[in-house]
Amino acid sequence: MNQITKFYQDLDKAVRQGKKIPTMQSGQGAYLKVNGKKRLNLCSNNYLGLAGDEPLKKAAISAVKKYGVGTGSVRALSGTNILHLELEERLAKFKKAEGCIVLTGGYMANLAAIQTFIGKEDIVISDELNHASIIDAVRLSQVKNKFIYKHKDMGELEKRLQEADKLRQNSTVLIITDGVFSMDGDLAPLPEIVKLAKKYQALTMVDDAHGEGVLGHHGRGIVDHFKLEGQVDLDVGTLSKAFGVMGGFITGKKELIEYLRLKARQFLFSNGLSIPDTAALIESVKILEKSDTRVKKLWANAKYLKEKFSELGFDCGYSGTPITPVMIGDEEKAALFSSRLLELGVFATPIKFPMVAKGLARIRVMPSASHSKKDLDLGIKAFAKVGKDLGVIIQAYRY
Ligand SMILES: *Cc1c(COP(=O)(O)O)cnc(C)c1O
Repeated sequence: MNQITKFYQDLDKAVRQGKKIPTMQSGQGAYLKVNGKKRLNLCSNNYLGLAGDEPLKKAAISAVKKYGVGTGSVRALSGTNILHLELEERLAKFKKAEGCIVLTGGYMANLAAIQTFIGKEDIVISDELNHASIIDAVRLSQVKNKFIYKHKDMGELEKRLQEADKLRQNSTVLIITDGVFSMDGDLAPLPEIVKLAKKYQALTMVDDAHGEGVLGHHGRGIVDHFKLEGQVDLDVGTLSKAFGVMGGFITGKKELIEYLRLKARQFLFSNGLSIPDTAALIESVKILEKSDTRVKKLWANAKYLKEKFSELGFDCGYSGTPITPVMIGDEEKAALFSSRLLELGVFATPIKFPMVAKGLARIRVMPSASHSKKDLDLGIKAFAKVGKDLGVIIQAYRY
């Protein structure tokens, strides 16, 4: 077969399946303009509504006036602006950590955290439902001994740690987990993981992409939520979700962060964040330091939505966070559910295989602090109608 034809065939298949990336014709907020129409936005990770926030816009604009847009070089050469350092210092303080390094995405931060500390002869122990960027990072590290444990199964984690103990000589053993699992919204049993790590002298890493700005006091994340400050070695977060801009970061002990600054290939061989991104993010951290109003609103909205959905008879899984999966099961039905919602003015995307296991397709509903009760009611009403029409719920008695 011609080398290029085989890609075209895949492409044809994708087009037949109706894969097309929707385009937003508005900024992020409670509503989005999609295909020329205003839709209720129930699928963004802009948890706190910061992405389109006035103070962030102002901070970005005034920094651009002062410093321009680009940074001209990788951070290690001439590309570190004082704003980068301010952001890192503020984030470290906010997270109550000794040090912080910022990269251009959560994906990059995971690559940096894993590749820098793990080599061929080390040992990685990872939850089976960890994010794709963790899987890629483990591959990149070329580690020979990688153990995958059943989702949140602490018995199996301990068995794997015992195996690792037998294999290890001088090798580093690293336990890696998502903080919040993004498809179901459930939390990693971090206290148990930390306890086991101490018992077997392993390092711990948490990817808290969906916990930053959401869990803990003022949105400080899962480590704060479980009161484990200083006990997780590598705390990785994203600045692209609740923080409203883009980027990723790692907090931890000063020495580990300094080591990353000297060794992480993602830091040494790729530029840092642009000036407007960095300035807007400083503003995000300031807002979160000062007030927990947005975090509280997010949780209140999530609670309201979940209560109404379960009253209606939807199965919302076992989420412990604002992530609200509405379980459908069948793949095609989930896709149909989403397109029917869109006709009713509600934008909520279906999550299907391979993002979740076959037969566990769902609509992942993402409430945010920018939704009013009226906005949520509009969404709930649409879900009730489509749920009834498609037989996902037997009766929608309230709406
Ligand atoms: C979104 C996400 C990432 C990637 O973050 P970016 O900043 O978009 O690169 C990494 N890990 C998890 C668990 C995520 O949900």
